[in-house]
Amino acid sequence: MRAAPATGRLARMPAPPSAPGPARHVLVLGGGVAGIECLLGLRDLLGAAVDLALLTDAEEFWYRPLAIGEPFGAGAATHHPIARIAADCGAAVLHGVAEAVDVGAHTVLTRDGERYVYDALVVAVGAVPHLPLGRAMMLDPRPAMLEGLLAEVDAGTTRRVAIVISDGPHWVLPAYELALLLAAHGRDRGMDELEITVVTAEAGPLDLLGPEPSQAVADRLRGAGVRLVCGATAELQEGRRIRVVCGAGHEPFDVDQVVALPELRAPAIDGLPAGPGGFLPVDAHGRVEGAPGVYAAGDCTARPVKQGGLSAQQADAVVEHLAFRAGALEDPQPYRPVLRGRLLTGDAPVYVRHELRSGAPPAEMAGHALWWPPAKIAGRWLAPYLQARDDGAAGLAHPPAHGRPIEVPLDAPQMPVPRHLELLGTEPPVRP
Ligand SMILES: Cc1cc2nc3c(=O)[nH]c(=O)nc-3n(C[C@H](O)[C@H](O)[C@H](O)COP(=O)(O)OP(=O)(O)OC[C@H]3O[C@@H](n4cnc5c(N)ncnc54)[C@H](O)[C@@H]3O)c2cc1C
Repeated sequence: MRAAPATGRLARMPAPPSAPGPARHVLVLGGGVAGIECLLGLRDLLGAAVDLALLTDAEEFWYRPLAIGEPFGAGAATHHPIARIAADCGAAVLHGVAEAVDVGAHTVLTRDGERYVYDALVVAVGAVPHLPLGRAMMLDPRPAMLEGLLAEVDAGTTRRVAIVISDGPHWVLPAYELALLLAAHGRDRGMDELEITVVTAEAGPLDLLGPEPSQAVADRLRGAGVRLVCGATAELQEGRRIRVVCGAGHEPFDVDQVVALPELRAPAIDGLPAGPGGFLPVDAHGRVEGAPGVYAAGDCTARPVKQGGLSAQQADAVVEHLAFRAGALEDPQPYRPVLRGRLLTGDAPVYVRHELRSGAPPAEMAGHALWWPPAKIAGRWLAPYLQARDDGAAGLAHPPAHGRPIEVPLDAPQMPVPRHLELLGTEPPVRP
């Protein structure tokens, strides 16, 4: 573990009590999905019984999932100032990048030499994307990549596009969204010569959802004219053209452009245990193995599917465990992953819901919302909170976000939603 520089400032917060008693001072690292879900949940369940601080290098929370659709006119990625979110949660914002944790001393050291003391630490620093294939574009939700690709397609300099999904921990939905949105873009403009191929290491598209949804996605891709090569590992041959070689049993083919889903690795933080890819090993309550007082949630943890909704659910397990330690909850629920995905298709979106456990019922798939608010990142506290923010910006009144049941008059004849909607934010906390 790196030694603290002499300039390191100490004791912004009082010394910690011994775990696992109540954690008065909770420090959250990272203001993304899991970090914000954690702040919202802790403030809701613990009220004034907890002091919250957020250490982050970001000025804003960027709602990435809708960025893929933005250049295609299928949604807009919203940006939310971190200062505003933290103020809503009553959390102090500490600007910086966490570089090391001293688990024994309960301190975090930043790149700038600041040192912060915590009772409980929640590491929610996400994952860092890396390009898996040379000469490929990395599938990146920032406008530059998508607009660059579209400009090439519109100019006719790119007619054959391969979208590559390698093996590894990631969230594959954006790759299929890009294929479908690009196909719809070409169809609407009469670009008959546009060829899109998805090369995936999966046995079938989105096969983690089970055979029927996977087949439905395959059918949709085929219907959109997207070619699919499954169970393949792509390599790019260097040369004048880009040749995609997919391994035994698959014919190589030439393309003008390759877009690769990034490989993800966790940001390195000294002093914390890390497995392959730097991901943190956690138990079902988000406790980092071998690091008392430290929790982790989100894409930085050793979890095979890197998804915002799952990140929020992991954060919920951390929130409940901290509420349990504070005596505010009797039975903290462990992380029981339920995948909720909203696929942008170029036409109406498709909603999928699937419990990721053995013996789970088959995935539900529908052309209407299966949960409410129908957010792409379906977090118990985050989704209602952001919906309220967006509604507020649009001048609509909205009840405050909380983790308790919301009353929705589903019998109202004018209610334009299906009756069996799952309402996010409805798991009632059990207070002793
Ligand atoms: C194109 C695209 C589409 C997606 N679509 C969906 C979707 O439809 N549905 C869905 O559920 N998920 C989707 N995802 C995945 C989702 O965005 C991520 O799984 C989710 O953001 C992970 O949440 P997180 O809190 O772990 O990390 P992040 O949201 O990435 O937040 C991590 C935060 O930590 C900060 N940080 C990093 N290192 C440090 C440090 N050392 N110190 C302090 N702060 C640090 C970062 O700046 C960042 O603010 C999509 C992702 C992409 C790229």
